[in-house]
Amino acid sequence: MIRQFELVERVKSYDPGADEDALNRAYVYAMKAHGTQTRASGDPYFSHPIEVAGILTDLKLDDSSIITALLHDVVEDTDASLEDLEAHFGGEIARLVDGVTKLGRLELQSEETKHAENFRKLLVAMSEDIRVLLVKLADRLHNMQTLHFIGSDEKRRRIARETMDIYAPLAERIGMHGFKDQLEDLAFAELNKDGRESVLARLDFLRGQGQDLSGRIIEELRSTLTSEGIKAAVSGRMKTPYSVWRKMQRKNITFEQLSDIMAFRIVVDTPGECYHALGLLHSRYPVVPGRFKDYISIPKPNGYSSLHTTIIGPERHRIEVQIRTHDMHEIAEYGVAAHWQYKQYKQTHPQVEGRQYRWMRELLDILEHADNPEEFLEHTKLEMFQDQVFCFTPKGAVIALPRGATPVDFAYAVHSEVGDTCVGAKVNGRMVQLRAPLQNGDQVEIITSRAQTPSPDWEQFVVSGKAKARIRRFVRLKQLEQYTELGRQILQKAFRQEGYEFSEKGLETVLKRFRCDSVMDLCAAVGQGHLTGREVVVAVFPGAKAETAPTKVVPIARARARQGKSKETSVPIKGLIPGMAVHYAHCCHPLPGDRIVGIVTTGKGVTVHTIDCDTLESFQATPERWVDLAWDVEDSQEQRTGRLHVIVANEPGSLGGLSTIIGKNSGNISNLKITNRSTDFFEMIIDVEVTSVKHLTNIIAALRAMPVITSVERARG
Ligand code: MN
Repeated sequence: MIRQFELVERVKSYDPGADEDALNRAYVYAMKAHGTQTRASGDPYFSHPIEVAGILTDLKLDDSSIITALLHDVVEDTDASLEDLEAHFGGEIARLVDGVTKLGRLELQSEETKHAENFRKLLVAMSEDIRVLLVKLADRLHNMQTLHFIGSDEKRRRIARETMDIYAPLAERIGMHGFKDQLEDLAFAELNKDGRESVLARLDFLRGQGQDLSGRIIEELRSTLTSEGIKAAVSGRMKTPYSVWRKMQRKNITFEQLSDIMAFRIVVDTPGECYHALGLLHSRYPVVPGRFKDYISIPKPNGYSSLHTTIIGPERHRIEVQIRTHDMHEIAEYGVAAHWQYKQYKQTHPQVEGRQYRWMRELLDILEHADNPEEFLEHTKLEMFQDQVFCFTPKGAVIALPRGATPVDFAYAVHSEVGDTCVGAKVNGRMVQLRAPLQNGDQVEIITSRAQTPSPDWEQFVVSGKAKARIRRFVRLKQLEQYTELGRQILQKAFRQEGYEFSEKGLETVLKRFRCDSVMDLCAAVGQGHLTGREVVVAVFPGAKAETAPTKVVPIARARARQGKSKETSVPIKGLIPGMAVHYAHCCHPLPGDRIVGIVTTGKGVTVHTIDCDTLESFQATPERWVDLAWDVEDSQEQRTGRLHVIVANEPGSLGGLSTIIGKNSGNISNLKITNRSTDFFEMIIDVEVTSVKHLTNIIAALRAMPVITSVERARG
């Protein structure tokens, strides 16, 4: 445990103007307030705030941050109140401690909402004062360092998980790589002890094999640089077990040699020397292509700057090298915390306006002036959370969703039942479309109706896995119902045609033969086209003629169509239920207004043909596959392809005239193919985009009026 005078000395060593008296009083206050409380380790409780303060002195934080660290647990865990703190240490300290206390309370919340909630409030706290977050991170770091003292497995894992998910990424995003590495590795040790130990064993083995390899590499790099007059500190550092582990998870690689697990670092005085050193390495050693990165010209959003390169270095070992100045190194290790050093530095050196500090001013500006977390995210590219939105139920529970999520996703996240029956949504009190993307912080109220069922259209816009899976399952079930019903009709028709009575009892006798579990199964198999009606009839009544002349079946009765409720479907066809796969035949290109019929194809759904399509001939022997269909619209907004067969005189300008006429009639030629060319005539197929058969008929009429046109017909089959 750091002693009182030691702590004060440390602060004074980097900040001679620190308030020595206040530091001393805070130390004593914390010690008295925590009194005889103890930690899981058995240590007196007050050792914890003192260690946290110690961690922050490594970051050279200002005296207010250190005092806050000392007092950070007194409001939550002792009799001391915020008012007491304000009276003793002033408003600023009370406000900072309050911020840390609030963050701490988040950890006590229910498991379900905790992460999202934590995140949101962390951000709010950050935009109020970054020091709250720095104290919180140091607090977490010390708790992780002492995690093994906690007896409950479940509690240790929970804390480690939270550290991995929330705090380590947060430390990284604000540029505190030193914190990030430690937090990650400590959490890794708890969450995957075996994984970490196997990596460590491998690292040890390689280190042993390398003998003094890294020492020789460092030595050679250093002498290379000094021979050109560059004063440089060269060091090698082991990659952390967790980063090695992650890399092994991401890529299918093994770690072969020392250079795979070590990174080398060159620290020089000025940015100019960084480039000088880089040039020297690149001229001396072969460069591995594609690995060079210049974060000095273009620093990372969190302020990180350095040169990165990979070379085939000393003794032909492939090595990664980072080159940076001392200042850049501070920033790389401490990130936003380095801001405080800058602020103090500026007070004593007001003339300094160095380029290297610009990012800090910018980041500080954002943190101090951003009104909302979004803006902060926007600026610092906190990708970790950018792919999520956090919304609230009317009761204030937080629901985390993938970015782009809609009220339907929200409804399914609340409960499957709510999703299945949702008919509308109010966002922040106003009705919105079910497909409207949600924003961070939206309060969402879902309106449900017992009469509602999931619409297959929803699948087009939902983004969460749960919603997608539920909707798909429902649609599949509905499709099966439809296939069953369709199969039953097909069978009834087939039996009638053969002069037999249809009965379910009769079907039961042949279930085994067709490997069906139930009559429903059998009907579905017929509906999907796996079995024909005739096959079933012959099975039930072996006396039935195996072959009969194809009956003329051209069913276009609207009886079925009238039953169909196709309002919700995007397919403007009656006779289908939503979710049935629909294809438009490429032989006849059916258009709204055409008389149409559907043909069921095995496992594929229904293909729509015009009633006079030549292709239908081939289905005459299987009338049970025919479905009565009718358009629900006369004229749709949608453009569909109509196909024309045209014979036109081979004269100059005849093709131009033809396209002009089509264009004048609001048609759009999407495809044109000359199928036959003689000295006198062109014979061709033209695909025209139109809205209905009426539209196409108008175009045909206009074309026929042209003197150069010999013949225009719709292409069939
Ligand atoms: Mn604490």
